[in-house]
Order: sequence, then structure tokens, then C-alpha cells
Amino acid sequence: MTDVLGRDIKFVGGVGEARARLLAREAGVRTIGDLLMRFPYRYIDRTTLRRIADIDESMESTYVQIRCRIVGRSIVGEGRKQRFVAEVTDGTGSAELLWFQGVKWIEKRIELDREYMVFGRPSFYRGRLSIAHPEVESIEQALSRKVESGYQGIYPSTEALSQLITVKGMHNIVHNAWQIVAGDPSAFADPLPEDIRHRNALIPLREAIYNIHFPQSAELLRAAQYRLKFDELLGVQLTIQARRNERHTRGNGFIFPRVGDNFNAFYHTKLPFSLTGAQQRVIKEIRADMVSGRQMNRLLQGDVGSGKTMVAFMSMLLAVDNGYQACIMAPTEILARQHYASMCRFAEGLPNVRIAILTGASKARERRAALEGIASGEVDILIGTHALIEDRVQFMNLGYVVIDEQHRFGVEQRAKLWTKNQQPPHILVMTATPIPRTLAMTLYGDLEVSVIDELPPGRKPIRTYHYYDSARLKMFGFLRQEIAKGRQIYIVYPLIKESEKMDYKDLYDGFDSISRDFPLPQYRITVCHGKMKNEDKEAAMAQFKRGEADILIATSVIEVGVDVPNATVMVIESAERFGLSQLHQLRGRVGRGGEQSYCILMSGDKLSKDSRARLDAMCATNDGFELSELDLKLRGAGDIHGTQQSGDAFELNIANLATDTQIMEVTRNEAIAILDKDADLARPENIALRELRDKHKRRERIDFSDIS
Ligand code: ADP
Ligand code: MG
Repeated sequence: MTDVLGRDIKFVGGVGEARARLLAREAGVRTIGDLLMRFPYRYIDRTTLRRIADIDESMESTYVQIRCRIVGRSIVGEGRKQRFVAEVTDGTGSAELLWFQGVKWIEKRIELDREYMVFGRPSFYRGRLSIAHPEVESIEQALSRKVESGYQGIYPSTEALSQLITVKGMHNIVHNAWQIVAGDPSAFADPLPEDIRHRNALIPLREAIYNIHFPQSAELLRAAQYRLKFDELLGVQLTIQARRNERHTRGNGFIFPRVGDNFNAFYHTKLPFSLTGAQQRVIKEIRADMVSGRQMNRLLQGDVGSGKTMVAFMSMLLAVDNGYQACIMAPTEILARQHYASMCRFAEGLPNVRIAILTGASKARERRAALEGIASGEVDILIGTHALIEDRVQFMNLGYVVIDEQHRFGVEQRAKLWTKNQQPPHILVMTATPIPRTLAMTLYGDLEVSVIDELPPGRKPIRTYHYYDSARLKMFGFLRQEIAKGRQIYIVYPLIKESEKMDYKDLYDGFDSISRDFPLPQYRITVCHGKMKNEDKEAAMAQFKRGEADILIATSVIEVGVDVPNATVMVIESAERFGLSQLHQLRGRVGRGGEQSYCILMSGDKLSKDSRARLDAMCATNDGFELSELDLKLRGAGDIHGTQQSGDAFELNIANLATDTQIMEVTRNEAIAILDKDADLARPENIALRELRDKHKRRERIDFSDIS
């Protein structure tokens, strides 16, 4: 059965050696099966003919098809600027067709007074409709052409691919491949048991494949998409749920039975405040995992300022009290140093906790102390950045790993850390970027989730305002008032000198202008950005933290974790340039003390619809979960952890984590039910399901079994 699908692509009509090589290199397509599993990402409706008079600006980025007559043709311009212009009309209006390339070639093919079918993307210049580089077919040809479908699929392409294979060419190749498959009814046999198909009203796989390439109607296209997404997400869920089952039965987790001296001493004599109910609950959950005999893999979500660091520290004490080492990995140098400072303070006077730090910027002495101490067992807690995953970091007996602000770490980096041990340590991944449920279900379907849903008492909700640049002076006035009250202020800029062209203020301009408006000695300003040397960055941060600067001008290096309770105002410049979760993170830098805090979003006067939606949402709510759901809707799932991560873990072919929530839930339940009856998919009737699962597994870049 796999014969047809396994056949080399080069024998398909329209391909040949050169294109086959290109398809393999650019798209990983080697066989007919590969080709047909590469779906269009968009469709052009070829069934609709537009009247020129009906085409307006709102259609600018879509495709339109018109039937029209050539009423004028000319070559305009000289040399490289030369272009071919055809005037057309369809009786309702007129338009201009333009070619900047292949002028000689097209000139021979466009005849005056003849009728053509024209297809392309409209644009308007001074109110006049024009279409650049349209597809053009004589009307006779167009009407006689036998089409497989009224919807023409557009396939993903790359620069190199598009050089050698046109949109139409690709369409033909897929068509020819399908002709071969059509002769073999066993190809794309359905992997799903009848009951699942029936229960979920799924069309047969073969029909879905045909319709995804050549939709016979809008309904069938939808049904095909649903079916293919279903298969894909079922494959994902079978992998995840099996992994979860395995972890639950494996019983190879370290057991930390004791709540010992360090924990008790800290809890009873040193804890600077009482824990919130949520913090207590989460510590209990972690502790329960640590005595269960199973390896913990827990995701801790808690909004900025909810007190995750304390949970990390106290749970690390549990590991130390049981004779194991623990480490915490932070996403930035600044944050690692901050953790180091506060945890050293926490640990002062505890009977038996030795702490070391290791970062990329560690000097020889610090580095040696950390490496030797960790190898000999003299150090109990190692704090650092991703320097911790370097090969030379050899723990004596690592029992517990905390990863702070995980969205900065790729899955692969995490994997490296936990493969250091014979026996996997317990893992706690902490994030302030609340992960929407759907995404958590896929990315972390095999993780337990804890939530800190309560802020420490006495916090006043941050007030957020949006100002246009034109109201800058008013904003400055407000800053002066706050400084007069003894408060401190962050001013954050998107990037430094990243794009000269773009009309946004970069940090240095900002610094100049703010220095002018807030002159010394009354106002003390300091700067911190990613391109500074680490020592300078730290010096600036430390100065601000000690209250020796009123204003800290920074890039988003301060985005995560930095804790200066006296800072009450966060000004975000060019706020429209930031993503929602980043804005929320930045805002979380204030509101950490008892004073009323403010977040001021500055933006240009012209805002896109999405930017406006983001800024409005920020002003409307302080709830990170609400914002993250909205964020996911606005920009899709790819980006939510920085494009890296979701791409690393799952390369989804057709399903979309942002929008396919419902299918995700259905497939999850189906997967659980299937595995309940047949945990290894060993039964003969489940062989095809196993293939579905493994197909997905192969696409995962790293094998999760290495991690846990
Ligand atoms: P995040 O969850 O963003 O990492 P932090 O751990 O940095 O938050 O905590 C934010 C601030 O709240 C810190 O100054 C911390 O000392 C303080 N904090 C944490 N827990 C409590 C609590 N239970 N009561 C009062 N303050 C707390
Ligand atoms: Mg934190």
C-alpha cells in the first residue's frame, strides 16, 4: 500500500531531477506521500468573477478574477525602469495591468481588443485600480480549461522554490501526483477506527486529502481541514498522553521524605512575611510530588509579582534537607544575580545551605568555586543562567531543578539540563506568562500545572493609561510629581538602533530628551540596556535598586523578574511595538510595594487595529490570563514563547494551537480513552493509530523521553 506514496517525486509529471532536488532541499518533500501531505495554506476562489466596478480598497490584499477586454497597451519607461501597461475594461469600469518584468514576453501575448481572464491582487494608486503581474489567460482557453476544483490551493513556498516552480506549476504537480494515487485505492487508507470517525463526524482520510488539495465545495474543504487537523492533533495527544502515563507509572523519582532543619528554621524564624494561601498550596503540591516516588514535572504559573521566587527557594530547601543539590536557572544575568542576592540573604543563619552562582559572565574565581563546589557536594544550591547547562557543570547529586521564566528557554536546553543525571531530578518550571489552556495542553500536556492565583496582600492594582506622543509634556509633569514623592520610575524603549528607518524613538534619543527635561542635580538618571557590558548593566541596576537613581532608562532587559518595590511608574515608549505578554511583564515591574503604581503606555498617533486592541486590553485589565488568551487570538500560537519553542516541540502541519481548541479537547479525550484500553497501541486494530502517533513523534525535533 505504501508503494504509491513512497514513490520518488521525480517521476511525477512536471517535476524531474532538478525540481525534485529542490523540493527535497527546501521542503523535505521526497515522495508522493510527502507531497500530498503538504497542504495549501490558502485558497483562491476561482469560481467568482468580479465586476471591476465592485472592486474597492478593501480587497487590496485578496485575489480577484475579472473578465475583460484590452483597450490599450504600451511600453512605458526606459531600460530597467521599463514596464508594460495594458488598459482593460469589462463594461462596468476600467483598470490597468502592469508588468515590470518579462516585458518583452508579455507584450507578445497581450493583444489589443481581445478578451482575457485576469487574475491577481488589486491595488489602488490615486484611486485607480491596477493589478501588477496578474495571471492572464485568453478567454477561450480559460473557458475550455478543465479544472479539478474552483478553489486553487496556494502552497507554502520559499524563495528558491518559487524561482523554479510557479503557483500554477505547483498546482499541476500536485494534480499529477493525485492522478497516480487515484489509481491505488489502498493509498491513504483510513487509520481511524470506525467508532471514532462516526462519533466525530469525520470524512474518510482519502476524501479529505483529495479535498484539501482540490476542494469540491466550501463545505468539503472545511470537512477536509477538520479531518486532517483531527488526525494530526490525535497523533500529538497520543504521544503526550502516553508519556504522561509512563511517567506516572515509572516510579523513578527521587524521594524527599524529610522536612528538615533548613526548611523549618527558615519557615519559623526567617520568612519575612506570611505566605499567601496560594503559595502554601503550591508548596504542598510540590512536596506531595517529592514524596510520591514519581519524578515531578510541574509547571508553576503565577502572574508577575505573585511570589514565585519564595516557592522556588522553599522547595529547594526540601531537596537540600534530604541531602540533594538543587539549582535554579534564570533567563538573564541580572535576574540570576538578583536571585543570588536574595537567596543568600534568605539562607543567612540557616544551619546548612551553601549557595553558589554561575553565569556566562562569571569571573574565573567565581566559576571555579561554583564548578568545584557543585562537583564535590560542597555547594547545595546553584543559581545561574543557561551557563548551567554547559557540559562542565557536573553536579554531585542533583535532585531538583527550577527553571525561572521558562519562556526564555527552549525545550532542547531544558533537555540538556536533565540528562546530566542518571536519575532524572524533579523539575519545576515557573512562568509569569500564563499559558492559555490549549497551549498548555499540547506543549505541556505531560506536565502537572500549579497556579498561584493570588497576589501578596496589600498590593494595589496598577493603573494603566495610554498616552499619545503629543501628550508627552503632561506625562513628564506626572513623573515629576511621583519623583517628588520619593518614588522611582522606569522608562522602557523597544530596542536600540535596530532600524534607523522606523519612526520610533530609540533609547539614546530618549535619554537625551529626558536628561534635558529632568536635569541634574534634581533628577538622577541611569541607563541599562542589552548591549552594555554586564558589569555596567549590574552597576546601573544596583544603583537604581539602592534608590540612587530616580529614573532608569532601559530596554526590555528588565522585562523579567527585576524587583524594586519603590518603583511606582513604568513608562513604556512606543508601546505599540511590544507584544501583549511583554507589556504585561514590563508592567509587572511596578506595583510591588504598598504604593499606588502606574503604567503609562506611550504610542504614536497612528495605530493599527491590533496595536490598538493590545493597548486597550492593557488599560482594561491587570489579569495576565485574560491578556494571554487575547494575545493568542491576536497573533496565533507560534509566537507565544518566542517563535522558538512551540516550533521546537511540535511542527504542526495543519492544526493551529490558537484556534483549534475544540479539536484539541476532543482528541485529548479520544487519546486518553484509546490508551486506557491499549496503552502501547499494541493491538492489531490500533496499528494505524500507532503510525499516526509515530508520524507525529518523528516530527518532534527532540525526543521527550530524553527529558523525563
Ligand atoms: P514573581 O512571581 O514575579 O517572581 P517575586 O517572587 O519576585 O514575584 O515576588 C514579588 C515580591 O513580592 C517580592 O518583593 C517578594 O519578596 C514579595 N512577596 C512574595 N511573597 C510574598 C508574600 N506572601 N507576602 C508579601 N510579599 C511577598
Ligand atoms: Mg520572578
